[in-house]
Amino acid sequence: MSVSSNNLELQFKALRNAYYSERFPSLATRLDRLRRIRAMLSENEAAWCDALSQDFGYRSADQSSFADITTSIKSVNHALKNLKFWMKAERRTPDLSLRMSGAKTYVEAFPKGVVGIVSPWNFPINLALSPLVSVLAAGNRAFIKPSEATPATSALLEKLIGQYFAADEVSVACGDVDVAQAFVKLPFDHIIYTGGETVAKYIMRDAAENLVPLTLELGGKSPVIVSSSADLKVTAKRVAFGKYFNAGQICIAPDYLLIAPERLDAFLKELQSAVEHTDSSQGSADSVSIVNERHRQRLENLVAEGENKEGRVIKMSGLNQSAYQLTVVVNPADEAGINGAEIFGPVLLIKTIGDLSQQIAYINQSSHPLVIYYFGRSEAEFRRVANETSSGGLVKNDVIFQYANDDLPFGGVGGSGMGKYRGVYGFKEFSNNRAIYKSGFIDVSGFVTPPYSDVFRMVNKLMRKI
Ligand code: NAD
Repeated sequence: MSVSSNNLELQFKALRNAYYSERFPSLATRLDRLRRIRAMLSENEAAWCDALSQDFGYRSADQSSFADITTSIKSVNHALKNLKFWMKAERRTPDLSLRMSGAKTYVEAFPKGVVGIVSPWNFPINLALSPLVSVLAAGNRAFIKPSEATPATSALLEKLIGQYFAADEVSVACGDVDVAQAFVKLPFDHIIYTGGETVAKYIMRDAAENLVPLTLELGGKSPVIVSSSADLKVTAKRVAFGKYFNAGQICIAPDYLLIAPERLDAFLKELQSAVEHTDSSQGSADSVSIVNERHRQRLENLVAEGENKEGRVIKMSGLNQSAYQLTVVVNPADEAGINGAEIFGPVLLIKTIGDLSQQIAYINQSSHPLVIYYFGRSEAEFRRVANETSSGGLVKNDVIFQYANDDLPFGGVGGSGMGKYRGVYGFKEFSNNRAIYKSGFIDVSGFVTPPYSDVFRMVNKLMRKI
């Protein structure tokens, strides 16, 4: 059901008023809200998986259960276990002069108010509810705008949120881009947006009108560096997983791979062998479809143009021969679109660059990726990659599993986004981390009030040394 901007404003006002009348929900209230997210997920698992499969054309129920339901429940459990500690005021040490006056300083997290969550289609449950965990843990009210590209899942989210939460606790607004545009113009206390870079720029402009702080979870091209010390079998198996899981429609999927020219054929052989052992290509029971015809066409165009522009195209043949097998494009000319566009599907771009300095220089030509994957045995090389590049995350000898740890911050930097959430990082991101100062028994202001004496001048100089 699509909503008018009038309705959006009414929903928003109800959330804002409820926030004003509650202000600082107790630990017990927050835990209760988190438990309701968990109940909403586990009590309706079959319905969630059906809706997801309907939206994608086909999506393995096992994959949906793991990637959308389990991951979200894990985030709830992590917050339930830790919230008591996150909510404790943190004592800060004042400098010696204030300390001598008996002053005390703290940082305490207060809710920001009403947080808007704009979520995408690729993991439509997890990418709406994982932010919700952090938002509610921090004591806020939440308003969610789920993706119009997954209408069945978004409608189910709206229905179930209505059953498990009061309308002034958490609310959902379904609808097309016009609803999304009106939604981000609301005077939120914070917005978290997950999606593409172009829309992020529109949202930033709209949010600027009300000075709404933003967390932007964007995508981009996450590279895989294959070192000369990398085990090619391990690398190929894990990269293949990254391209098949959710059909590669993952913001942290490996996008392109940098490898020495003399290791290319051996790598392709290992990749073929990895694909042969997985029954996850489109058409099998454990597969996921490309979400819609527009995205399928986009991928086909990227590959066809890459081939026209000097790229060597290899289609991997798997257990299940179907419309979309993992496709590799090797060394297309610089002007091919696949070099710059985020692939977001089961297509892998390979560039034959083997020298680490050149690999780093290639990565640094573009905006900072969401994650950089390094495959190899050298700690020294891994350190070089860490020091000489920038990205939201950095992973050695694996792909995607960094997301399995709720105790790590998640987010990008530069072109891949701003702000981090999940675990304590999400709690802080959606909190107003207030500086609290309690003055001591000595009147500090008396000391800096004119007329200034020689003692003042001496102490003023001394303060620079402590
Ligand atoms: P999408 O088309 O579903 O859009 C995302 C959201 O933006 C939707 O809720 C939509 O309604 C809203 N939207 C669209 N136009 C808008 C506008 N003009 N103003 C305000 N809101 C608007 O998703 P998408 O953009 O195709 O998502 C894919 C992208 O998301 C990829 O780039 C991917 O890498 C990125 N992504 C990032 C993460 C992350 O956590 N960093 C996770 C998943 C996806």
